[in-house]
Amino acid sequence: MKIQKLKEERKKNKLSFLIKESNEVFVNTLRRLILEEVPTLAVEDIEIKENSSALFDEMLGLRLGLIPLKTDLKSYERKEKCKCGGEGCARCELKLSLKAGKKGYVYAEEAKSTDPKCTFVYPTMPVVKLLAKQKVEVTMTAILGRGKDHAKWAPGWAFYKHEPEVTVGKVSNPELLAEKCTDGVFEIDNNKVKLVEDKVYDSNLLDYYAELDKGITVKYTDNLIFTVESWGQLSTKEILHSCADILLEKINELDALL
Ligand SMILES: [Zn+2]
Repeated sequence: MKIQKLKEERKKNKLSFLIKESNEVFVNTLRRLILEEVPTLAVEDIEIKENSSALFDEMLGLRLGLIPLKTDLKSYERKEKCKCGGEGCARCELKLSLKAGKKGYVYAEEAKSTDPKCTFVYPTMPVVKLLAKQKVEVTMTAILGRGKDHAKWAPGWAFYKHEPEVTVGKVSNPELLAEKCTDGVFEIDNNKVKLVEDKVYDSNLLDYYAELDKGITVKYTDNLIFTVESWGQLSTKEILHSCADILLEKINELDALL
């Protein structure tokens, strides 16, 4: 198997790479491990001391659970695997608190975490809106969990597709193609059609263009383009490292059983 990095967009937390000499079975295993097994921190228990906002306690709890929390996989352990036996200790639980009483939006950055490395990822994510004299005071416990138990623990999104190969022949209607091409795959100048190579891998409309004009042909190779997009708890590289560790762990488990 050979891997070639295609594009890394740090600001979007997105990474894509080309996998050669592999197959869908392996690549889909990676995808499912990322969505279901790679652990992240998320708020699981909340204690409400005061909530006079318009949101019900349950809604407030759900919102806090869904706000991505920066995750440090080296310092935390899943409760099931923790030495404390699941009772709760500094290695498997993170405490946060939120106290707000000012009119207007309450943002994620107002929450205080006991671990400065693990705070809410997006400071300006709104939690609740308060009217005059309304208050919210809660303490939260975040734990490591997995996407297969609740989507709030999923570290991001992963998907793959076959590598497309586009060739431009004799295009019969360049004007129509120019009108319908909305993702910049083709540059059309004086009825001459030019392929913009950089945009090909990102396009989802290639088959449509091929259908539109016989001059465009699209073929798919055996290579796979894999894309990981992080919600912010972990970097894309941390997600892939953790995914590889989990795969090895599973192989060893199987090996031990045989
Ligand atoms: Zn513990």
